[in-house]
Amino acid sequence: MRKPIIVGNWKMNKNNAETESFFKEVDAAAASENATYGIGCPFTDLKTAADNAKNLIVAAENCHFEDSGAFTGEVSVPMLEELGIKYCIIGHSERRQMFGDTDETVNKKAKRLIAAGMTPILCIGETEAQYDAGETEKVIRDQLTGSIADLDAKDVANMVIAYEPIWAIGTGKSATKEDAQNCCAIVRDQVKVMYGQEAADSVRVQYGGSVKPGNIVEYMACPDIDGALIGGASLKADSFLEIIEKTK
Ligand code: PEP
Repeated sequence: MRKPIIVGNWKMNKNNAETESFFKEVDAAAASENATYGIGCPFTDLKTAADNAKNLIVAAENCHFEDSGAFTGEVSVPMLEELGIKYCIIGHSERRQMFGDTDETVNKKAKRLIAAGMTPILCIGETEAQYDAGETEKVIRDQLTGSIADLDAKDVANMVIAYEPIWAIGTGKSATKEDAQNCCAIVRDQVKVMYGQEAADSVRVQYGGSVKPGNIVEYMACPDIDGALIGGASLKADSFLEIIEKTK
């Protein structure tokens, strides 16, 4: 009943020519009744990506919660709407750690995206120190409590939440499928606590952290994992195509 969603996160990689060639190579394979595939790319690549996407969905990697004003270097939700962008990654741990995103600002971004009819892909996850200290569940529940506060249950039902343990991002040290399933189940339970069973049953929960062609299938087999957010392995058309072929 939940349609899986697998999204690449290019981070600060690829120019327009590289974006065009990736989409030309991958887009046709992404046609699937069973799953949604997409790419999150830098602002400067969004138009090229959208122009070359028939099947892939295109996501921004961030947005600002205000519509306009003195926010040098920021990009607003109406600016994304103008390009036809329907998805936006928010609260990625790199933004939380390096650019000051907090649960409060992430919550404002979620609200603004929802008001525009866009789908937030909201990232949460614990640090290695928090994992080692046995604090993972508390961190996940606390981050969600702040990041999805004061929303409508029907909007939460349509969101995507990416559980990404920070120690697994870009390290090659992926979470075990048991840990990933357990944490995605905690995410779903926290949605249930805050917004009820229906929202919990509908919200799509991704695992992210060193997902690659060799481990995607075992994550997708977990009952509470509805997809993946994929950094490194989304950069090469070959490996993203392999991920699509193994999951469609
Ligand atoms: C990410 O960028 O969100 C990510 C999970 O990266 P990687 O797949 O490279 O670990």
